[in-house]
Amino acid sequence: MDKKREEYDVVVVGGGPAGMTAALYAGRARLKTILIEKSLMGGMATYTSEIENYPGFPEGIDGIEMMKIFDKQMRRFGVQVKLTAVTDISIECEEIVVSTFRNEYVAKALILATGNKPRLTGAKNEEKFLNDKGISFCATCDAACNTGKRVMVIGSGDAAIEEGMFLSKFATEVIVSVIHDEGKMDANKVAQEKALANPKLKFVWNTVVDSFEGEDMLETVVLKNIKTGELMPFKVDSCFLFIGYVPNTKLAEGLVEMNSRGYIKTNELMETSRPGIFAVGDCRDKVLRQVATAVGDGAIGGFMAEKYVEEVNYVRDEIFGAEGLVMAYVYNAVEALEREYLSRIEQLHAGMDPRVKLRRIDIYKSDRIACRLMYKKSPSILFLKKGELVGSLEDLTKLETTLPAMVSQYL
Ligand SMILES: Cc1cc2nc3c(=O)[nH]c(=O)nc-3n(C[C@H](O)[C@H](O)[C@H](O)COP(=O)(O)OP(=O)(O)OC[C@H]3O[C@@H](n4cnc5c(N)ncnc54)[C@H](O)[C@@H]3O)c2cc1C
Repeated sequence: MDKKREEYDVVVVGGGPAGMTAALYAGRARLKTILIEKSLMGGMATYTSEIENYPGFPEGIDGIEMMKIFDKQMRRFGVQVKLTAVTDISIECEEIVVSTFRNEYVAKALILATGNKPRLTGAKNEEKFLNDKGISFCATCDAACNTGKRVMVIGSGDAAIEEGMFLSKFATEVIVSVIHDEGKMDANKVAQEKALANPKLKFVWNTVVDSFEGEDMLETVVLKNIKTGELMPFKVDSCFLFIGYVPNTKLAEGLVEMNSRGYIKTNELMETSRPGIFAVGDCRDKVLRQVATAVGDGAIGGFMAEKYVEEVNYVRDEIFGAEGLVMAYVYNAVEALEREYLSRIEQLHAGMDPRVKLRRIDIYKSDRIACRLMYKKSPSILFLKKGELVGSLEDLTKLETTLPAMVSQYL
């Protein structure tokens, strides 16, 4: 089947808070932008019933509600949304091609915002009870159907404790399996204190899951004491896993650099090791994975993608695509001597054949266009014809004689 090809300025993969913010910035900059999400819009933030630490919501807000607001705001800026999985990303002659089952999206800039997925315990029979068979990763989604039931939570980080508290509003008992010694948890202190004071939460310390048991649906979780080896079966209706996450970055393997845990490496501009590809949010190598930081990353990623697309267009239209001879002056605008050269070049250019096009490339603002032209030093003048570098002038001391001579040589 031949796939339909569509061209975009910016393609965003992932519709969580990072991807939606990046798309909002790109869309608002009037770039032709598409966001592709394989599941429901909102990503991991929809897994929580209460986000208390995102500024602007002093009473806290339900994750699904918050993500609906993000989505609405993003769509106001003309971002197109496609609900399907991205299956491949490739580079064809410097073009970034993002493939889904039916389509190929050719992008000038790509923003990866694929987030994380929950880590499994690796215990016996785990696979059997995934997909609505009793093991869950989302309290918001599955709390109501556990009303009046007994559930288990695995983990002691912020997500485990906060979601355990939320589950206790529905379930009669919430058993929390913690790998650490009694009284030790990974969650923040406020959450720990609230959890210890909640009579519905029962902590089982020094334990990991040994096996999940049941016919079709989960019936029992067997915990193992890591100090004594004792096996403890607990009859439960559901078991919620909150033991960390693994990045959704398989798509980008071999394309951009990653750390040893598979998180995408970026600089603070959200640039990956490959020009034109940015990574934002939980899928990148960073310290704090939260909605607030996802939004910050998304804003920078969207902004930088805009700059990148501007550069791609400028280089394509004004430098490589210009008719005649392009005379690109690469300089640093804060250097007085380099500014003086600029005014001498402008005077000389005024008397030249109109087929000579002067382009000013200020590396103080950004050296990225100059880098694309593979400049060697500043100040210097690069000569390009039909997109090819035909020569350069690096000694500008005798401009009045050397410049006209080089121009007539290349014109
Ligand atoms: C239970 C829980 C509670 C939390 N509580 C809080 C809290 O109180 N405060 C807070 O600030 N943060 C909280 N977080 C963390 C917060 O949700 C994340 O940090 C945030 O959602 C990260 O945003 P993101 O956009 O980077 O990634 P995600 O939200 O993970 O979104 C990534 C999206 O990419 C999509 N995707 C992945 N691969 C593909 C593909 N191949 N094709 C198309 N789409 C793809 C996924 O389906 C997903 O929707 C919580 C998380 C959980 C799980």
